[in-house]
Amino acid sequence: MLTKKFAIIRKKKVFPDNVSGCSCVLFCRKHLKMQNSTKIKQNMNVKSCNNSPYEKEAEAGNVVSIVDDLLNKAVTSGASDVHFEPTSSELEVKFRLDGVLSTVEKLPKSLSDNVIARLKVLGGLLTYRNDIPQEGRIEIDNAQDDRIIDERLAVFPTIHGQRAVVRLFYKNKELMELEQLGFSKDTHTTLKQIPAKNQGVLLLTGPAGSGKSTTLAALLRHILKTYPGKSVVTLEDPVEIRIEGATQVQITPHGQMTFPTALRSLLRQDPQVLMIGEIRDAETARIAIEAGLTGHLLMSTMHSGTPAGAFLRLLEMGIEPYQVTSSVSAVLNQRLVRKLCGKCKKMSEKTGFFEAAGCDACFNTGYHGRVLIAEIVQLDSRLRKAILAKADLDQLEDILISKGHTNMLEDGKRLVSEGITTQEELNKVCGIISGDS
Ligand SMILES: [Zn+2]
Repeated sequence: MLTKKFAIIRKKKVFPDNVSGCSCVLFCRKHLKMQNSTKIKQNMNVKSCNNSPYEKEAEAGNVVSIVDDLLNKAVTSGASDVHFEPTSSELEVKFRLDGVLSTVEKLPKSLSDNVIARLKVLGGLLTYRNDIPQEGRIEIDNAQDDRIIDERLAVFPTIHGQRAVVRLFYKNKELMELEQLGFSKDTHTTLKQIPAKNQGVLLLTGPAGSGKSTTLAALLRHILKTYPGKSVVTLEDPVEIRIEGATQVQITPHGQMTFPTALRSLLRQDPQVLMIGEIRDAETARIAIEAGLTGHLLMSTMHSGTPAGAFLRLLEMGIEPYQVTSSVSAVLNQRLVRKLCGKCKKMSEKTGFFEAAGCDACFNTGYHGRVLIAEIVQLDSRLRKAILAKADLDQLEDILISKGHTNMLEDGKRLVSEGITTQEELNKVCGIISGDS
């Protein structure tokens, strides 16, 4: 019974349009000027907003429809994840929109356990275990909604009850090709030259959620299209984006199929282009660098704030300086900045630049959608010499400045001048405190 595979598919519902100016930004009926029953209102237990559209469901204990509504609304609004966070007094529901988490609903605490239980049923998790973290996958009915490719659920016990996060993976039809990603002309040209070299390592850096997987997928598609017949293999944890023509391998970090094991075995089959989801440990780094030195084009991501930092990170992982300088061809560092909402952005008379305002279409944030900013560093003789001489981060940064390198912040300025984003957003993403720039 408990091992039975649940295949409960969410029903699609129609939602009210968004509203603004209330803590229940998405669902408040008062702001929607929709009909409200006074009888239901009297029995309300939602503290933050006494006009929740879920009041009726909450009263009737209709958790199934509340969960369905919230998940469908998340898809409609393009949220990347939905958080169900129990506090001492309620169950907060938050959506991550364009990378920013906002509270969209506060449900009565009394519903908390049932909401989480419903999610666990949808995700095929053990409903009777409330004391352990669990992860699962929610089945999607593609006939009803073809925007979503995957929905993953994670639950975690906290002092106020179980917390659940649903991650939503969309089909992104617009961002398939390298040309569509929004790189500056120079960066785009440099990136396209890298596969022509047939060997070496290209590293992508940036925090989680900075679009690295999308860029890697677009690069691999470019290679498959430009150099037909090349064998392209990816090792990923998990496989996030399907790439037509590439052999994609799912890594199980806690099982037999780890990055180093799979990588060592694959290299014997001599693939020409290899993509490793992430270089996380010294062993993967060592095999990856060796692959780049022995006639393979290798691409991967790494945790590092800057391109110069990525070189030093490899050295910290025990890679010899000469191996770094002879294998790494380039480091691409990227972030995503929010785009100004096209419906409400307004020109500031003071600065002459567009600034964020806020309207119903953008959930009153002033922004809608995201675009990337990037910088790319190719190793040249000066940088090689500095790395061989064990230069520190400041020395490497100084060399880049003296070369006239365009860093991410400068790259983003073109978007500010074109009215696509704001300086404020750019500073925030690049970690610059306001008034500092
Ligand atoms: Zn707007």
